[in-house]
Amino acid sequence: MSGQETLKQHFAQRVIHQAREVLEVWQRLQRGEWEPAGMAALQDATARLRRSAERFDQTEHSRLAGQIEDCLTDIEDNRGRLSSDTIVSLSQLMHRLGRTGLRHGDPLEQLFLPPLRKPVYLALSDSERASRLSQQLEFFGVAAQVHADADQFAAAMRERHPAAILMDVDFSGPDLGVRLIEHAQQGLEQKLPVLFFSHDERDTPTRLAAVRAGGLEFFTGSVDASSLLEKIEDLTRSAHNDPYRVLIIDDSRAQATHTERVLNSAGIITRTLLEPFEAMATLSEFQPDLIILDMYMPDCVGTELAKVIRQHERYVSVPIIYLSAEDDIDKQIDAMSEGGDDFLTKPIKTRHLIATVRTRASRARNLKARIVRDSLTGLYNHTHTLQLLEDASFRTRREGQPLSFAMLDIDHFKRVNDEYGHPMGDRVIKSLALFLKQRLRKTDQIGRYGGEEFAVVLPDTDARAAGDVLDEIRRRFAEIHYPAKPRDLSCTFSCGIAELAPGTDVKVLTQQADEALYRAKHGGRNRVELF
Ligand code: GH3
Ligand code: MG
Ligand code: MG
Repeated sequence: MSGQETLKQHFAQRVIHQAREVLEVWQRLQRGEWEPAGMAALQDATARLRRSAERFDQTEHSRLAGQIEDCLTDIEDNRGRLSSDTIVSLSQLMHRLGRTGLRHGDPLEQLFLPPLRKPVYLALSDSERASRLSQQLEFFGVAAQVHADADQFAAAMRERHPAAILMDVDFSGPDLGVRLIEHAQQGLEQKLPVLFFSHDERDTPTRLAAVRAGGLEFFTGSVDASSLLEKIEDLTRSAHNDPYRVLIIDDSRAQATHTERVLNSAGIITRTLLEPFEAMATLSEFQPDLIILDMYMPDCVGTELAKVIRQHERYVSVPIIYLSAEDDIDKQIDAMSEGGDDFLTKPIKTRHLIATVRTRASRARNLKARIVRDSLTGLYNHTHTLQLLEDASFRTRREGQPLSFAMLDIDHFKRVNDEYGHPMGDRVIKSLALFLKQRLRKTDQIGRYGGEEFAVVLPDTDARAAGDVLDEIRRRFAEIHYPAKPRDLSCTFSCGIAELAPGTDVKVLTQQADEALYRAKHGGRNRVELF
């Protein structure tokens, strides 16, 4: 790299660091309630981003920062009051900010692949094990820092908090690892994800001490990169950072406006429907996470409307909260048994309303995620992958952008099962899933298409670019070694890619990708073919 290139990268990195701070403040606001202090922090972080983006000529970043500042000014002008429109705009700007300036293969890209954009700290007594693990983590695009002793670890902790820590219980001395973590966790508002390791099985007091120090997992014997990453992913997943969407159905405008205000002030997007008969149309257009339903309306009773909504399979699991002045407990119980999830009586306490909506909406999202995802890998399942492909095809067509579809199939996978056993096969599948998640863009959708088959939807990407990305992934994946007896295992995959051609549909696209995959297999496997 030339000196000038290095310099440019350095500046870009500075700007991206600022952008990340903005995104982190935004995520904190989503999790907690919007308070004046949080808003001020968002304002500060955005101003810093705009200034450094302007200074280093990062036009896209400075434009976005400017737009975020405009949004925040609007909120201020509105006496600090949030509205659904401003929440939507902010959320869209944050999405764009998260994607800005990054391309496939960009070394900075992984900064934006949450949750593992920060390094993982490895503090193991066996230094050889630590460096092997660190190498393996690198294959997944995760940076690991190996620490040799307690001092080095402490120094690193002062400098930067990691995505997670793998700590040997006996690091730097018997049971000292646990104490190091106790110390590190002190005074932290949000505890660090810590996983403990011990070469030998441990007694209950030690395990208990580990749990009390904030240990979320206790590995004994051995630990490999993919099970470690899988755990960290689970622990740090902040999957749903999009604001919640709530549909309010109420014939009283005053009551609805009040509910809207309360929810908006907590960063929740709302839509009000005064006319219950329009409910189905609004549901399909607005796609709420939750519905707040007035119990008594002139034309129909809340419970009746709930039944109508529940008759549609798509809305079977959308939580419904009844709102009413009703304080007769029997009636409340009746209401709950008729398709409702909760019952709030007017006048509702602000905090109670927000907390109820948050918990219910969050649970509903988790449930939905489980329905569309495959349980072994956490990737989208076959049906949902095709749905996403369809969605992406509409969008990219409208925007005049290319769209590619890739199909992957692990080579000679039967042999893996036969020679190493089914559990090992599962591990390889999980590890390829994780590998794809780490290495692809956030905008790419990854699905488990079948047993050891995967599919990737790559929007705004032509076949050639998709081919380059997948070929790089193919090369790196083949380098992973899974420790096993009598010898380590490594696997390869074949891949077929097709680009959506004008005048064809998604069905043709999948057939073409399949054909390309077939060619890759017959051409000798471990290769990527374009249709
Ligand atoms: P190639 O694709 O290179 O032609 O050979 P292959 O051996 O991979 O061929 P094939 O697609 O016929 O075999 C796939 C095997 O994957 C068959 C099945 O037993 C195994 N498999 C499918 N799903 C799972 C799973 O969830 N876990 C494990 N361990 N094995 C699975
Ligand atoms: Mg197969
Ligand atoms: Mg196969």
